Amino acid sequence: MRERPDTQAERFRREWWLLAGLWLALGALIAVVLSLERRDTEERERQQVAHQVHIVHENLERQLHAVNQALGDIVANLAQWRARPEGALPFNERLRAFSDAMTGVRTLTVLDAEGTVVASSRAELLGENFAYRDYFQSARRLASREQPSLIVSAPMRTVLGIWAITLSRPVPAEDGLPGGVVTATLDPDEFKTLLDSVRYAPDVESTLVHGDGVRFLRVPERAGLLGATLAQPGTLFQAHLDSGRMESLFVGAMEPDPAERLVALRTIFPAHLHMDKPLVAAVARDWSQVFAAWRARAWTLGVAWLLTGVAIGLGLGFMQRRRRQLWRREQALAAQEAALQARWQAVLHATQQGVWDWDMAAGTVYFSPVWKTMLGYAEGDIGDSLQEWESRVHPDDLARVHADVARHLAGETVVYENVHRMRCKDGSYKWVQDRGQVTSRDASGRPTRLIGTHTDVTAQRQHQETLDRLAENVPGALYQYQREPDGRSHFPYASPGVQDIYGLPPQALCVDAEQVFARIHPDDLQALRESVLASAQTLELWRTEYRVLVPGERERWVSDQARPARTASGAVLWHGYIHDVTLAKQQALQLQETERLLRHLMQEMPIGLCMIDAAGVIYFRNRRFMDLFGYTEAEVPTLGQWWPRAYPDPHYREQVIAAWNADLAQAGAQGGEIADREYRVTDRDGRLHTMTIGGLAFGDHCMATFVDVTEQRAQHELLRKLAFMDGLTGLANRRQLDRTLKAEWRRCRRSGQPLSVVMVDIDHFKQFNDLYGHQQGDDCLRAVAAALRGGLGRSHDLVARYGGEEFVCLLPECDLDGARAKAQALCRAVHARQMEHRGSPIAPVVTVSAGVACVVPGAEDTPEQLLARADANLYRAKAAGRNRVHDGMD
Ligand code: GH3
Ligand code: MG
Ligand code: MG
Repeated sequence: MRERPDTQAERFRREWWLLAGLWLALGALIAVVLSLERRDTEERERQQVAHQVHIVHENLERQLHAVNQALGDIVANLAQWRARPEGALPFNERLRAFSDAMTGVRTLTVLDAEGTVVASSRAELLGENFAYRDYFQSARRLASREQPSLIVSAPMRTVLGIWAITLSRPVPAEDGLPGGVVTATLDPDEFKTLLDSVRYAPDVESTLVHGDGVRFLRVPERAGLLGATLAQPGTLFQAHLDSGRMESLFVGAMEPDPAERLVALRTIFPAHLHMDKPLVAAVARDWSQVFAAWRARAWTLGVAWLLTGVAIGLGLGFMQRRRRQLWRREQALAAQEAALQARWQAVLHATQQGVWDWDMAAGTVYFSPVWKTMLGYAEGDIGDSLQEWESRVHPDDLARVHADVARHLAGETVVYENVHRMRCKDGSYKWVQDRGQVTSRDASGRPTRLIGTHTDVTAQRQHQETLDRLAENVPGALYQYQREPDGRSHFPYASPGVQDIYGLPPQALCVDAEQVFARIHPDDLQALRESVLASAQTLELWRTEYRVLVPGERERWVSDQARPARTASGAVLWHGYIHDVTLAKQQALQLQETERLLRHLMQEMPIGLCMIDAAGVIYFRNRRFMDLFGYTEAEVPTLGQWWPRAYPDPHYREQVIAAWNADLAQAGAQGGEIADREYRVTDRDGRLHTMTIGGLAFGDHCMATFVDVTEQRAQHELLRKLAFMDGLTGLANRRQLDRTLKAEWRRCRRSGQPLSVVMVDIDHFKQFNDLYGHQQGDDCLRAVAAALRGGLGRSHDLVARYGGEEFVCLLPECDLDGARAKAQALCRAVHARQMEHRGSPIAPVVTVSAGVACVVPGAEDTPEQLLARADANLYRAKAAGRNRVHDGMD
């Protein structure tokens, strides 16, 4: 809460005085610093001008010394140089060379006792008379002195119009020109350079003044200032002279010019030169310029200081205004809050909710009137101690209540909530729902105040007990799950069955649902939370299965379904049912596994498989099916497409479809089994396959199985052939002969037709083998066989190898004459082949003998007898000389 306006004003005054004081102190500090700086500046400046004038003094003194020396030399050598010894320079020339060599000297001149120029570095001056010059006068006066002296002339305007001074020395009696004077006119330009060199700022001026006060040199030059005398009362120059000091430092007017200056003055009057008049050097600086930089700084600081003052004033004013605004706003809020509070009280009263307010710091509890009346107490029956409440909680519930309060105070729960029994004034118990929350904490985070409501839930409790009893008879659990708009959630109701599902007591879920989530398998949790959110959004029936992990128990699957509805407060409330489906889930998983295995088996089976539904759609075909036919799903999606592709011949197709449909119709009676049947199926590449096709019908669907027997059939045929064929000659073998003979026997017996046999044997074949070898013997056998086969014209005639080199021809419906003729033709046919046989005594080529027999089969005859007769006749043919036919007739 803000301070009241009067305390605010008080505080404002305090702050104002404090800041004003600080501001003034800052000003004082600035003033002190500035004054110190000013003193420093002045001190520095004084030293500076003193130093500059010192430099002028040093240089000038050196110069005067040099000139004095030169003049001394001239005086000493005057007589000699005037006499001009043989070969020496004329005197004037010598003086010019001298003056040129000396810096700062313009002209050297020698005057005689009358003041007439007798020698000079400037020829134009010869003969001139300077007796009127003050220095000549002074020289005359001083010539008699013992001490050689240097006479300094008053500044004068030279013939060239410039201000200069002259230094002179008188010539004593014993020297070459007694009474004369030697003079050196100083070069003002030279001194100007010196004076200029000490001007360290544009406003610095440097001046040379004659001891009498006449200024003869000033840098910077200014018209009209030269030649005037500074030795006037009140001038600094005069003050310097009056002080009698060699060095002075003043601030004031240097000349009759009102501008204030800092001036350093120095008298140049070295004792060893014995000058008759001193010279004075001065370096001056404009006093106002000395402090220009300092003044600028002082201005800046002053302005900054003033601005700081303004800023402080404005800032303070603004802050004060803002404080007042805040105060007003808070006042308004407080008023609002008070109104709200009143309304709340009314609402709580109307809804019969008791309120308690536990001031933990003070150790007191406020219990609202409703709280008291709810339990049947009058206002005065209950005090304000925690004891009042604790003593009324049912002893069985107290530990649980304490635990929940402690958990909330420790910050483990967002709200404290507990349903417990409270003793009424009449000694009965009521169920109350206690809900509360910490509303303030101290600086270290310890809760200081806990406020909550007290609701009579006895009726609900009874209701719930009924519900619990009902739910007990249902496997699994019933529950209500509520999710607040801020994401918190709890189970307002959970039947006792949740203990079996989650291993948690129902009341544990009432406050916070997170304990339940902690028991859900981590792999399922994310999806579950998302589906709950989705259900809260769409308000559609929520149904899911997930795994629950209760510590110490094996994993179990539960099926959970709930219907959401939005409550008036914006929360979503689900009514749900949850039950254990571990067993069913395991079975389903097992079934899935079996199905997977089956599918795999079907896919990989070496038999072609396809599945067809009621509409004739082929919805499954395994790998082998594809290998067999190559028809893809796109090419042959249904049975309708299958028929014309697999059976392109329309006639055959008709038969196949009829057979298949008949078998399918039959399947029902045979437990669904479709009998195997052989078909000739055309594959995608047009190749024909012999297939055994059968299958299984289940419901409207059926599965067809395809076994390719093409190979098998071909092999079968071969085997069959091999069994009835002679390997060497390719003729029918003895077994085939027996079968055919029996068949023809029966036929001829039925029809009454004759049946003839011709038995043929190669003549002297033993010798042939001996002579040509077994290999040639085999070739011979094959040639004879071919000859015999070629000799038989009718389709039902049969020639068989009877054994070794014997053959039997079976001629149905052929009488004896015909058979004989045939036998003879066969003998000729063999002979005609002209196979060399040198070992034969009867012919040079291979020949055969034949025995013929004929019968019209009757009841008493046997085929064996017929063969025996032919054999006997063969024997006769042999005996009769071979290479012939015998029919048993003599
Ligand atoms: P004949 O004129 O009295 O019939 O005199 P033959 O020598 O033909 O009669 P024999 O029964 O004494 O000899 C039959 C020979 O035929 C004996 C055997 O070596 C030969 N023989 C039997 N089967 C085969 C065979 O499969 N291949 C060959 N190369 N020789 C065979
Ligand atoms: Mg034989
Ligand atoms: Mg033989």
